Amino acid sequence: MTKDQTGGPLIDTSLPHSARMYDYWLGGSSNFAADRAMGQAIEQAIPGIKAMAMENRKFLGRAVRYMAEEAGIRQFLDIGTGIPADGDTASVAGIVAPDSRVVCVDNDPIVQAHAHDVLNGTPGAGRTVYLEADLRKPGEVLAAPLLRDTLDLGQPVGLLLVAILMLVRDEQDPWAAVTAFLDALPSGSHVAISHPTQDFDPEAMASVARAAEEGHMTFVPRDRSEVLRFFTDWELVSPGLVPVMAWRPESPLTQDERAAYYWAGVARKP
Ligand code: SAH
Repeated sequence: MTKDQTGGPLIDTSLPHSARMYDYWLGGSSNFAADRAMGQAIEQAIPGIKAMAMENRKFLGRAVRYMAEEAGIRQFLDIGTGIPADGDTASVAGIVAPDSRVVCVDNDPIVQAHAHDVLNGTPGAGRTVYLEADLRKPGEVLAAPLLRDTLDLGQPVGLLLVAILMLVRDEQDPWAAVTAFLDALPSGSHVAISHPTQDFDPEAMASVARAAEEGHMTFVPRDRSEVLRFFTDWELVSPGLVPVMAWRPESPLTQDERAAYYWAGVARKP
């Protein structure tokens, strides 16, 4: 995804992009041929990928619900929001705690382009705003007037980093970026992280990473210890950092908890 300095098209549909590929897997309509081709190439390596994407989205919903209902959080900072859809942070927060304020951050202009519909279509939502910004620039995100006008950083915040960190390479130090966000939030804040991993099926994940590289997309699966580091010294709430399906499931699991290849957890700032 490139932005043309001369004011050319903001949305380059010739290259696959993670937001639109994910939208394709979730059955949405905001995707183009290149996104579907990459989505299908990854599906070759992992036939269950669509179900896994949905499991990840369900975790997002359970984490937001936990933060609102059990931790009393009323402000959310969702980084890597994706294309607005049922079951995303703003819609879950709007249902569970309609007085919530939500800042959605994404660096794909297509997300911004869709945001309008959502702002007009979430009845009862306290306030949801969309900020086009980059996870890798925490200082800019945290200083953005839109964020400052919407969130009170003196009060606990629920930070969502759900299925985004695999899009940042080690060399770009996603750990430093995440730490900058964590440091900016007060005690009582929570963070939810999910991350694709090679730990459950190394061969399948290696093929995904290869398919992504061939399509000029970044995709870095990480092992449990690498994902654990993102939480710094925040305290993981029960059941800890676990396979995504095993994080507080709404009903007893009927299949292997490792059937979706993500680690997931929620932690609280002491
Ligand atoms: N969090 C959602 C969507 C995940 S898809 C969910 O789990 O259901 C990943 C999203 O992160 C995409 O929308 C992509 O555009 C966005 N993204 C990727 N890199 C980013 C970056 N550096 N800064 C901000 N957003 C980014």
